[in-house]
Amino acid sequence: MSRLVAFAVIQGAYNIVSKVEGRYKKVLESYEASTKVGFPNTAYYLPVIYSLTGHKVEKLEDMKKPLEFARQLLPPHVKGHHHVPYLGPLLDAGMAAVFAFEIDEALNYLEKPDFYLPSEEVDEENGKIWLGAADDVIFRKRGVEFVDGSAPGFAAIVGAAPDVETAKMIVEDYQQKNLYIFLAANQNGTTVAEQLLEAGVQIGWNTRIVPFGPDISAAVFALGFANRVAMAFGGVQPGDYKRILLYNKNRVFAFINALGDVNAEWAAAAGGAVNWGFPTIADTDIPEILPYGVCTYEHIVANVPHDQIVQKSIEVRGLKVTVSKVDIPCAFGPAYEGERVRKGDLFCQMGGGKTQCTELVQMANMNEIEDGKVEVVGKDIPDLKEGDVLPLGIYVQVAGREFQEDFEPILERQIHHLVNYIQGVMHIGQRDISWVRVSKAAVEKGFTLKDIGVVLHAKFHQDFGKILDKVQVTLYTNKEDVDKITAKARAVYKYRDERVEKMRDEDVEIYYSCTLCQSFAPNHVCTVSPERTGLCGAYNWMDCKASYEINPTGPNQPIEKGECLDPWKGEWKGVNEFVYKASKGGITSYTFYSILDRPMTTCGCCECIAAVLPQCNGVMTVNREYQGQTPCGMPFTTLAGTVGGGAQTPGFVGHSKFNITQRKFLRGDGPKDKPDGGLLRLVWMPKMLKEELRERLIKRGEELGIPDLIDRIADETVGVTEEEILPFLKEKKHPALELEPMVAG
Ligand code: SF4
Ligand code: ZN
Repeated sequence: MSRLVAFAVIQGAYNIVSKVEGRYKKVLESYEASTKVGFPNTAYYLPVIYSLTGHKVEKLEDMKKPLEFARQLLPPHVKGHHHVPYLGPLLDAGMAAVFAFEIDEALNYLEKPDFYLPSEEVDEENGKIWLGAADDVIFRKRGVEFVDGSAPGFAAIVGAAPDVETAKMIVEDYQQKNLYIFLAANQNGTTVAEQLLEAGVQIGWNTRIVPFGPDISAAVFALGFANRVAMAFGGVQPGDYKRILLYNKNRVFAFINALGDVNAEWAAAAGGAVNWGFPTIADTDIPEILPYGVCTYEHIVANVPHDQIVQKSIEVRGLKVTVSKVDIPCAFGPAYEGERVRKGDLFCQMGGGKTQCTELVQMANMNEIEDGKVEVVGKDIPDLKEGDVLPLGIYVQVAGREFQEDFEPILERQIHHLVNYIQGVMHIGQRDISWVRVSKAAVEKGFTLKDIGVVLHAKFHQDFGKILDKVQVTLYTNKEDVDKITAKARAVYKYRDERVEKMRDEDVEIYYSCTLCQSFAPNHVCTVSPERTGLCGAYNWMDCKASYEINPTGPNQPIEKGECLDPWKGEWKGVNEFVYKASKGGITSYTFYSILDRPMTTCGCCECIAAVLPQCNGVMTVNREYQGQTPCGMPFTTLAGTVGGGAQTPGFVGHSKFNITQRKFLRGDGPKDKPDGGLLRLVWMPKMLKEELRERLIKRGEELGIPDLIDRIADETVGVTEEEILPFLKEKKHPALELEPMVAG
């Protein structure tokens, strides 16, 4: 901690306490000790003193005790060469100043009864622009907003901005974020309240811009307001100072902006506010107090430029801003999720095998990105004509103090349903096989690709505000840019996939469900284990675990796997019970590693679909991007129509690409003498998929004692019927031909 700040805070507190003691003594010379004092129309007395100590100041003589208490709180002066290692003395000094401020303001009410206007509105004509303490009527009406969420908290601004425009800009920015703005103190005689009036901004409780008073002591009205919220709505008893302050720290998102030179009295006020967990963010070069402690993050942050002070304040206080409106020209919501964009309605499309379409969510540093920035690099909808296709890269960068890299895939997987929420826009797939179809109706309404970014920004804030503070979206539509982002994305996917590489299903007792796709396939439930990643390829066991941490009531629930009913096929009692319930009775049991016996269901998002090839005594698999015919007689789209929707179809199973090279792939249908040998059944796959998985397929082949397994697997260059590929398999001595018959008969 900075010795300089401690010096200023402690010095300021001494000044204030001494000044108010002097004033009190003088007042007692002209008033009876029994003179009634206090703020107007309130049952909370002097609310800071009352809430923190339980002491009621009703008469002049009642001020004696809290003033003595303030004096006792003053820590020893900081000597020039001494270091102050703890926050404690600074907090005490600040608190002493706050007590003295409150008494000072009560004396103002006594000696200058007409100074403050007891109203919600200012009376500019008569020069009455200071409203002072809120009475209980105003407090009840406004305080409840701090509790019901309509106001997240307040920004207390002390001093004055360098000019009228700056004052207006800062205050309006807070207004848009639904915060109250409490104004106090002046800077060389200028105040923000007067600056706003000059700029034609309406001030008063109705616009949430409240001019408390022209002196720094008026800042105490903000703290008193906060403490009344804790008592009235938080049910905290007067005198329970710990809970009063904690309530504020945790529930009232407030902070102070110091505009202009910070003198010792301001420093004391800032130190006082730290007791509440309210940090101070200043535009001048005052010594900072950065280490985390009482406040959510830093305590005092200096030298923040005016155009950044709002964002910085919100960040430092850990305030979660809600973006309540998804500002796009089309209707938006879950109602449109299942809607299709058919051929006749289609205006343009991205991905779907015609062009590359990739999505990637990545974590960024807080200062690296700008919240709400959405940029389209390349052509957008207005540059297109009906029937056009475009490549697309959706690159979302997210930052937050609580954000972890592990959360990236979870947000990325939301892109699917969130884009589907846009009326007239359809999204299929994920990762680098996404597909976006835009209807003519959406384009007529004015939809552009930029709106995808607007949606993601708003919804990520709404749904994941707890873990993120900033969202920036870039949409690339030039081929080179999309290729670049795709290469980058693939490296990231690989890294994510391989995080579960070393884990074994036997090692964990908990698997995770995924019911994210129930909006499309109402009975479908994926169960994700370390060795069976989600069939969409986007969720592995780690991702589900992280998702559960973020959202414990969300689509990824832990499943106690329970008794193992079949280690070969991968069947567990706990999983069956869960699936039965989650599929609403649709599915009574399924296996993890078998295609023949009650295979796991698929919703339709699967990256690949495997099918039994009886003549070849094996299995083929086909990936979504491959559009040609396959040896089972159906191309991918027909297969997806047959297998998808959450039904169980023995002989067919949906799975992720990565799953092909996971050890337990098809284990239940593989050789009994090779526990991880299910892959030996694989006799056909598209060449592109083979190439994509080459490295991993070779590794698995080596593990299984057949290093050239990859070359024994047929692809479309060999043939697309069982008859065409069988001679090849024989010639290459494909191991499947040696295994026990797959299908009886
Ligand atoms: Fe979840 Fe399965 Fe849908 Fe992937 S396919 S999002 S794992 S339900
Ligand atoms: Zn799905």
